Amino acid sequence: MGVIARYREHLPVGPSTPEVDLNEGSTPLVPSRNIGRALGLKHLYFKYEGLNPTGSFKDRGMVVAVAKALEAGSKVLMCASTGNTSASMAAYAARMGVRAIVVVPSGEIALNKLSQALMYGAKVVTLRGNFDSALETVRDLANRYPVALMNSINPNRIEGQKTAAFEVVDALGDAPDYLLLPVGNAGNITAYWKGFREYQSAGKATRLPRMIGAQAEGAAPIVSGHAIPNPTTVASAIRIGNPASWEGATTARDDSGGMIAAVSDTEILSAQIRLASSEGLFAEPASAAPLALLFRLVRDGKIEKDATAVVVLTGSGLKDPDAALKNVEPPIELDGDARTLAKVLKL
Ligand SMILES: *Cc1c(COP(=O)(O)O)cnc(C)c1O
Repeated sequence: MGVIARYREHLPVGPSTPEVDLNEGSTPLVPSRNIGRALGLKHLYFKYEGLNPTGSFKDRGMVVAVAKALEAGSKVLMCASTGNTSASMAAYAARMGVRAIVVVPSGEIALNKLSQALMYGAKVVTLRGNFDSALETVRDLANRYPVALMNSINPNRIEGQKTAAFEVVDALGDAPDYLLLPVGNAGNITAYWKGFREYQSAGKATRLPRMIGAQAEGAAPIVSGHAIPNPTTVASAIRIGNPASWEGATTARDDSGGMIAAVSDTEILSAQIRLASSEGLFAEPASAAPLALLFRLVRDGKIEKDATAVVVLTGSGLKDPDAALKNVEPPIELDGDARTLAKVLKL
């Protein structure tokens, strides 16, 4: 069952909304086995969004946005993307038989995300410049031509993405104390906050979490309070200098008593390896940013040891293996028999 079927009464869909479904959502909330213990945190969980059909949380919002675009009669879907939005949009467009046009910043997108969009049959245009300028161009085009804009400024994306907050509450029985996630264009933090608030109003949660957002140091417009013209970070999914949902992010932060802070690329990559090698969860670099921030907050005594904390692992590590492989030992290559092998392996 996809998110529209599971959370229909909380979503802007009706009898005339076409059925769109790739079985997205219902991702596991995995209890930490080792990191939580090492940090002294009793209740640490990972929301493993990499298990969505195209490998990131983007599917939750895209399924609703595509259904609504089809309901409105759209035949051409378009987005600017750092990768995962395009992969997701292309998949749903393929399934529903409509055209998909993807605009990506040239040289800035992880190869596997690009391969997804191409395999799903999208028309991919690489535009010189960064994500922010690609988004500006696509917004401008969507204002003048009959194409449906599928970026997270599309409110139906936010509607779909808020279902992740519902799932966290459904799994824990109430909202956690802390919800940590990466912040790029800031649609997701906006969506989670909306989801938690709506679930509380509906009587399904008794409280609200503190929202903790992580940006990368070289791409931290919200932390620094001004747009960054040339954002840089290894975490391509959050390499964004002028977030479209800036206000949604600061509202979530301030109304929840949370924070948005920056972590370095070194912290991101070491959190990514630690997550994979000590929990068996391989997430892309952007997803490791909130874990890196959690390490710092625990070290600084900012998170109580008995608090319930959920870290959202937004996308699969398989999306961007190049970024990860730079930081692990390469495989050993050798000629020889079992004895040589055993010797090398110190068995
Ligand atoms: C899109 C994305 C983000 C950033 O989400 P925003 O809604 O743009 O803040 C983070 N991680 C991954 C894997 C993503 O695909």
